[in-house]
Amino acid sequence: MRLVTRAVWGARPSKYSLVYIGATSGVKIHYEGAYVPKSLAAADAHSACAGHMRDIQASHLANTAEDYSDIAYNAVVCPHGYVFEGRGLHRKTGANGNQTLNAKDYAVCAMVGSSGLVQPTDALLGGLVDAIDWLRNGGSAGPEVLGHRDGYATACPGDPLYAWVRAGAHRPDGSSPQGGTSGTASGSSIARYQVEINGLKYGYGATGSHITKVGQTLVAKGFGKHYKVGPGPEWTDADTRNYQDFQLSLGYKGTAPHQDADGVPGEVSLHQLLGSLPGKTTSSSVPPFPGRSAFVLGKSNPAVSTLDRGLVRKGYTRHNDGNGYQPGPRFTEYTRENVRDFQRATPALAGDAYGYPGPLTWRLLLS
Ligand SMILES: [Zn+2]
Ligand SMILES: [Zn+2]
Repeated sequence: MRLVTRAVWGARPSKYSLVYIGATSGVKIHYEGAYVPKSLAAADAHSACAGHMRDIQASHLANTAEDYSDIAYNAVVCPHGYVFEGRGLHRKTGANGNQTLNAKDYAVCAMVGSSGLVQPTDALLGGLVDAIDWLRNGGSAGPEVLGHRDGYATACPGDPLYAWVRAGAHRPDGSSPQGGTSGTASGSSIARYQVEINGLKYGYGATGSHITKVGQTLVAKGFGKHYKVGPGPEWTDADTRNYQDFQLSLGYKGTAPHQDADGVPGEVSLHQLLGSLPGKTTSSSVPPFPGRSAFVLGKSNPAVSTLDRGLVRKGYTRHNDGNGYQPGPRFTEYTRENVRDFQRATPALAGDAYGYPGPLTWRLLLS
């Protein structure tokens, strides 16, 4: 599953604290119920999906009649099959019509509309099944899969999606949610080696409070299903398997030892998990994110010079006026294209490669 976390798509914070929910009967499927441009489903249009997500959240936060705390859905799936984290796991939705229905099921929305893009792509249907699996594994969702219109008077989720729900909510290849298509290692041996990141060891047999913290964070993010006990200070195979699930959710491929999703941390995924890298040189050397408003095309801001230092140090200077990339306070089209190259080259950011730095791009570029 390719999960795009709130930090990566640039979510605004919740207006009110979200209500915890322990478990649900299942999941209800929604659509946007408005015009969605067909161009969003183009193969090369995924860079627009994070912005589309921010638009949905903004429209919900601006809805004074509903007075939503946040985007109403637990997850939203784009035509390219990415699962965008909405309210997330163990949070009550605001989308199902009334409080009873909101407490009964999670809500997953597909990026299709009532006009324009009305037919879900195969990738989107696969992503919906990924989102359902994610809510089952990490959020204790029950087996029910229904449409918004089940039990509530609405056209949502539209006829094409509702037909898919009624037919069993299968992947386009015919497999069901939790139908054994998960990418965890089957047959391949489990990785039992250690790596050192920032002066601290990770992997099988490594010990310390930093290991406990990784385990606790995995559990908090819904990747704890392999723990029988713990998480504790010693790295076990359960830590490896849970970490592997997290890597797969980021889109990493290859579950055999020494492949990208083998369950042993790398610097980027660990940073993505924890929000910072524990160890000798902490991310406190990274200056605080100045906010998205510091990066406006054609405008100058001291933060752009800082950003340029990271681009130069990491070698992302391909786009320039022909005389080499000139660092400076002005955010130019070259700056944007070089940032986009960095985002495309960084798995944790690839779903958001539109060239404007968010907090995670800033941290990863400057750390
Ligand atoms: Zn709906
Ligand atoms: Zn997309």
